[in-house]
Amino acid sequence: MRLSNLPFNTFKEAPTDAEVVSHQLMLRAGLIRRLASGLYTWLPMGLRALQKVQAIIREEMNRAGALELLMPVVQPAELWEISGRWDQFGPELLRLKDRHDRLFCLGPTHEEVITDIARTELKSYRQLPVNYYQIQTKFRDEIRPRFGVMRAREFTMKDAYSFHLDEDSLQEGYLSMRAAYAQIFTRLQLNFRIVQADPGAIGGNRSEEFHVLADSGEDAIAYCEADGFAANVETVALTSPAGPRSAPTEACELVTTPDVRSIEELSAFFGVASSRCLKMLLVAGSEVPAVGLLLRGDDELNRLKAEALPEVSRPLRMLGAEQVRAATGCEPGFAGPMGVDLPLIADRDALALSDFICGANRKDHHFRGVNWERDAPLPHTADLRNARTGDPSPSGGGALSIARGIEVGHIFQLGSKYSDAMDATVLDKDGKSCAMQMGCYGIGVTRVVAAAIEQNHDERGIIWPDAIAPFDVVLIPINLDKSYRVKEAADRLYDDLRAAGLEVLLDDRAQRPGFKFADADLLGIPHRVVIAEKAWDQGQVEYKRRTEPEPQLITVAQLMQRLA
Ligand code: ATP
Ligand code: MG
Repeated sequence: MRLSNLPFNTFKEAPTDAEVVSHQLMLRAGLIRRLASGLYTWLPMGLRALQKVQAIIREEMNRAGALELLMPVVQPAELWEISGRWDQFGPELLRLKDRHDRLFCLGPTHEEVITDIARTELKSYRQLPVNYYQIQTKFRDEIRPRFGVMRAREFTMKDAYSFHLDEDSLQEGYLSMRAAYAQIFTRLQLNFRIVQADPGAIGGNRSEEFHVLADSGEDAIAYCEADGFAANVETVALTSPAGPRSAPTEACELVTTPDVRSIEELSAFFGVASSRCLKMLLVAGSEVPAVGLLLRGDDELNRLKAEALPEVSRPLRMLGAEQVRAATGCEPGFAGPMGVDLPLIADRDALALSDFICGANRKDHHFRGVNWERDAPLPHTADLRNARTGDPSPSGGGALSIARGIEVGHIFQLGSKYSDAMDATVLDKDGKSCAMQMGCYGIGVTRVVAAAIEQNHDERGIIWPDAIAPFDVVLIPINLDKSYRVKEAADRLYDDLRAAGLEVLLDDRAQRPGFKFADADLLGIPHRVVIAEKAWDQGQVEYKRRTEPEPQLITVAQLMQRLA
């Protein structure tokens, strides 16, 4: 493509609301444009990268024997009522009415529609197993759309659904999809991990997520190099007993702490590690207005674990300032376990603290030198926190490390949840009707592009994996408008490289070389070739890989060889 034919606007600076690198770079490099919150246009340059990802996914899904189809985005409410999800799905489900007042939704996922297809198309065990997939637009009215296409409201998903006669076949189909996914992310040249996902929501069936590792990832992954364990941090049960509690050595003392509210402020004020402070989080109870959850200052509350407690309301709800005042008699920031009349549940490690610091339920006051039993009543104990570095691996082979990841894929064994609800049955060998076993498998196609950038960039811009790059080579002629020889050389090289099967971007814009170099780096095309008159007269071009700091002069023959 000749860049002069493309309206291509790049920016030095990203808008301030673009928080993560991939979002900034996608805007700056002219890959996407925002239409409204969580809604993005893929401009021609961005779409090329997106289509590369789609092509690899399609190839590997076809290779695995899956059948492509295309389902509507708009789905009738009746189907969702049959599955029970019309009421279960929260405000993420965008509901709408047509001119006849019939209710519809924009599909956030397609289990209902595909099960409807399966129950009409599949009649006999002889037709099974079947795996249907599509690459399709999804809509989820996310509470906090952010990070550009990473968490958008409208996005592209590859979703696949498999149907089986029995659990063995489902297991086989699941493993085949797992292998196909591993192949897809390997071909996309991404550094990824397969991790155990939350089995709770679907009832203990097997479910795994594919994460692209990146520091900015929204998810934390706990893994153990020694025994191969890897799971989303939110699912890791911590079964080991809390360490023993040391005997008190300090006296309990009330300290004035003006405006000291957060754990960071508290640990700075007292000059102690945050692990010596106690954090009390106030959440809505299932039977009483407030429950206090106690954690060590350096630990994070695990929402799934908290929600699973019978005392705590589901979904988990943090109390607002007014409710905190009602529960503790004090404004937020100074809550503690002493002298309050509410159910208290402490994480095991919080219970192992001695001589700790906690809120005094009095504005601008904390206690220091606090000890359980002596000063504060011993609360109930539970596993409440997220795993942290050094925790023992649940598989028993060593200590856990924590990495951050971006969830790009999710595979699930659904069993007969939808086939039971929607009466999707086939006749088995004995002519008996039985509900099909089902699996579902998603890839966030648009998110993959952002994740690839999140994992591969430097201060100058994107560094595309070869497999995703919108073009293989960018050609930059110097003084194109002044030198007839350069123009001829550029045209010839452009044709020759394309004839060799490469996707070539010819930067024939009337711009300074420095401007074009900066754009080439920002856009992250893997190979850069500069054509300058002097070198060309000696049969040479200046070649640089995006990852290399300095260009080198090579002959055209060498160039063709390298790029082949
Ligand atoms: P998340 O925890 O990130 O919200 P999810 O569990 O809701 O993901 P699934 O329902 O399993 O996601 O959807 C399959 C895939 O679709 C996810 O693995 C992710 O890559 C992608 N995806 C989900 N929500 C979004 C979104 N709002 N924007 C872009 N991609 C998304
Ligand atoms: Mg979600």
